[in-house]
Amino acid sequence: IKRIGVLTSGGDAPGMNAAIRAVARSAMKRGIEVCAIYNGYSGILSEEIKVLNHNDVSSILKQGGTVLGSARFPEFKQPEVRQAAVEILKKHGIEALVVIGGDGSYMGAKLLTELGVNCIGLPGTIDNDIAGTDFTIGFDTALQTIVEAVDKIRDTSSSHRRANVVEVMGRNAGDLAIWAGISSGAEAVFIPEQDLSLPEVLEQLKKAYDSGKRHAIVILAEGCIKNGLVESPEALAKLIEVHSGFETRATILGHIQRGGSPTAFDRVLASRLGAHAVSLIAAGIGGRCVGVQQNRVVDFDIVEALETMKHVPALDLYNLCYEIV
Ligand code: ATP
Repeated sequence: IKRIGVLTSGGDAPGMNAAIRAVARSAMKRGIEVCAIYNGYSGILSEEIKVLNHNDVSSILKQGGTVLGSARFPEFKQPEVRQAAVEILKKHGIEALVVIGGDGSYMGAKLLTELGVNCIGLPGTIDNDIAGTDFTIGFDTALQTIVEAVDKIRDTSSSHRRANVVEVMGRNAGDLAIWAGISSGAEAVFIPEQDLSLPEVLEQLKKAYDSGKRHAIVILAEGCIKNGLVESPEALAKLIEVHSGFETRATILGHIQRGGSPTAFDRVLASRLGAHAVSLIAAGIGGRCVGVQQNRVVDFDIVEALETMKHVPALDLYNLCYEIV
């Protein structure tokens, strides 16, 4: 194999650049040329394609976001658009592709593989919601950002004897909320995968208030709003205020969670997965997604991952949130 492409697709995540760098460097080590494809799958069609040299990926390891740009390109669901993409890749001599993104991006990668361009998917999203891997690239950095923010919210909540509902990202997955809940010592954590047990939580918060506690942090996964379990962080805050006695505020952390320099963990993860993707491609293998399980790099058939390997959050960790409150 002489030349491959790399692109980032879907929502961006810290550590995507570390993955791009690992793909580029390990391919170059094997004498394989690497083309950057800009702005996700749309960059194939618009031919935003550039051959990378060793220096092009210097110093991107520590940068947040993705230097390749990311885009949503729903047109890629149309077979004729994908066929046109294959022709363009052929024209540029690109024989295989590393796609860094979420499960939507994996679907595109699977379909391209069926058209003869071997694709490997890498899990790039802060949400940790991809099957076949214990951790996604960007999760650890987003978690770090959340914990720093919640620590600050706790300071001011304590001063004013307030409770604070903090909405965190995660799409339909509760992982960010669970890990943030444990590491910030939250009084309650709401995730979309579990019943809320709202009356119990309200009762606990009232007890906490009555016993003189000066703050309460409630972590709310955005998935609870998406699936209608909670109307809004403000509505939950109001409910807590009425039932517990705490004056309550709501904070939506928002896109701050998606930015920032990746943590060492995310850099290492991205580097391992990127290098593994290249080793698969070099062996003529495609249609696989790469992940880490129990600290070992693993790969699975993308179809199997998408169809049969549902992501489940660590419910033992969810239970731990309430055990150590
Ligand atoms: P995130 O979870 O961070 O949003 P994602 O990869 O799941 O990432 P999507 O917007 O679902 O984000 O998908 C990214 C891109 O992948 C789409 O804009 C489209 O170009 C391509 N894609 C998604 N679904 C399909 C599909 N069924 N067939 C072909 N291409 C697809």
